[in-house]
Amino acid sequence: MARITRLLIANRGEIAVRIIRTCRRLGIASVAVYSEADAGALHVRLADEAVCIGAPSAQESYLHGERIIAAAQRAGCDAIHPGYGFLAENADFAQAVADAGLLFVGPTPDVIRRMGSKIAARLIAQQAGVPVAPGFEIEDERLSAERDDQSFLDARFAILNSIGFPLLIKASAGGGGRGMRIVTSIDEFGAALESARREAFKAFGDDRVYVEKCIARPRHIEVQVLGDTHGNLVHLFERECSIQRRHQKLVEESPSPFLDVALRERMGQMAIALARAVNYTNAGTVEFIVDPERNVYFLEMNTRLQVEHPVTESVVLAGARWPALDLVEWQLRIAQGEPLPFSQADLRQCGHAIECRVVAEDPANGFLPVTGHIVRVVEPLGADVRVDSGIERGSEVTPHYDSLLAKLVVRGETRGDAIRKMDAALRDYAIEGVATNLALLRDVIAHPAFRRGDTTTDFIERYFTSWPSLRDAGAERPTTLLMSSNPWRQRDRFRIGEGVVHAGQPANRARSEAMSTAARPDVPARRPSVGRQIEAPMPGQIVDVRVRVGDAVAAGATLVVLEAMKMETRLTAPAAGRVRRVHCVEGQTVERGQVLVELE
Ligand code: ADP
Ligand code: ADP
Ligand code: MG
Repeated sequence: MARITRLLIANRGEIAVRIIRTCRRLGIASVAVYSEADAGALHVRLADEAVCIGAPSAQESYLHGERIIAAAQRAGCDAIHPGYGFLAENADFAQAVADAGLLFVGPTPDVIRRMGSKIAARLIAQQAGVPVAPGFEIEDERLSAERDDQSFLDARFAILNSIGFPLLIKASAGGGGRGMRIVTSIDEFGAALESARREAFKAFGDDRVYVEKCIARPRHIEVQVLGDTHGNLVHLFERECSIQRRHQKLVEESPSPFLDVALRERMGQMAIALARAVNYTNAGTVEFIVDPERNVYFLEMNTRLQVEHPVTESVVLAGARWPALDLVEWQLRIAQGEPLPFSQADLRQCGHAIECRVVAEDPANGFLPVTGHIVRVVEPLGADVRVDSGIERGSEVTPHYDSLLAKLVVRGETRGDAIRKMDAALRDYAIEGVATNLALLRDVIAHPAFRRGDTTTDFIERYFTSWPSLRDAGAERPTTLLMSSNPWRQRDRFRIGEGVVHAGQPANRARSEAMSTAARPDVPARRPSVGRQIEAPMPGQIVDVRVRVGDAVAAGATLVVLEAMKMETRLTAPAAGRVRRVHCVEGQTVERGQVLVELE
């Protein structure tokens, strides 16, 4: 049996730190990799050895498979753990690791590839008897042909109508909530299809998309599975992850307040059936949505450790051991060929755990990610409190990576107990230097609907449209911000997987003027809602310039798409007008406040 003695961790932030901690406990040497932007990062300081692999951009560092494998070989590692994100679901990388004679801590390249296509995964699920939402592959000629004769359009409408509106266009290679479009009527279909394809290609290098019925008011409930290389396969029950923004998870818990014993058992069996169908090994998660009538639909399988895995670790017991499971430990043991020492009958849930994702985002400004220098961190303490953090005092939050700073996890005897502990822990948590969502998380946990377990994926949209409430508003917040800063207020501004900034929108204007009037003397403050200069709301990279000098634009038209911290933000025209100047090009890196487009 191969023994892992030296592990390279191909990731950053809290997950790299979390894997290092398990290595330490197991006596495995840890080797971190880092980009030039992360030289001072916590994971670099904590690892036994750290190797700089390149420039700040993810492509030049954490996504650069060859450099990572070369670093592992030079450092004498025997295995690579990819964490989540980045290279975790890249089948070619997993194959290259194996070809280099190293262990890849994850499933086989073949399984990663098969599940990496959501279209293929839907078919595998159907064959395994697992229900999927009604849908179609767009490659289907009846949907995608470039024809506009009436008989084609009628036939296409009939197919889409058989699914029913609203429907979703989703990227086959999608992840992180990207490449999705809601289509509420047939008129929107053509344009949405084109833009979903474009976004999917840009984000994943793969423009295949499919349509799926948009399930109303669902919950996101997923099942953790673990399989060894000897054919043993178990599930570790569910996590509910319905509290989301931009279709990305914010708060997760286990058990789900919605499941009863029978449905829990049934979903566990579905997850096992799917995993069994592909001979799944290592840790993985089968994601489902569940509608209010308790119909279950398979969404996708994530062939990696999931961000929210700690809630499972906090509540699942294997026999009498507690804490029962360290999922990273079991990933490593499985990778080196050990059989699982427990079977399904040994596993049970005990207590209740909740996780909050602490992100560098400003919920009061469209959840836009923010950057900065961390000047102080005070973490909550307590026997039932766990903080998986990637930051410490002095850390830099840069625009190169996503906005996750830390995860706060609490465990209670009951859900009510866990809620109380989470509330207290959030109050004890302080991060200074960058804006975070800590205050929003507190309000989510305190919300009566959350306490009731009335948690559906539209929770934030439904209950936090006017957040922060006047009660919570600090004196320093301009009142206009409270009125209109929320991205969910206007239905037409709601797009999955991206933020929208209406330049000159009162909230953003009030805010940026409050912060930087001196730097922008030429912006007429006296005409709120009519912005002439469209500025970058944060540092980032221009991924699309949609207008040219002289173009007439309608109010709300997208001018430029900016990507920062893994999120695309559309900058739109505050009012109808004409483009006077364009100051940016695709691919350009821009600073916050930099003028991108001028309108007249
Ligand atoms: P999980 O499914 O485990 O909850 P997420 O989907 O939240 O995980 O994130 C998984 C990985 O994808 C993480 O590495 C995260 O940094 C990355 N990620 C998060 N948001 C995005 C995004 N908008 N685009 C691309 N990657 C993202
Ligand atoms: P990703 O790969 O980006 O994680 P998923 O397919 O897992 O994409 O979906 C992410 C989220 O989008 C879900 O948790 C849910 O909130 C929403 N979603 C996805 N598909 C549907 C659907 N058919 N109906 C309603 N909501 C959906
Ligand atoms: Mg998902």
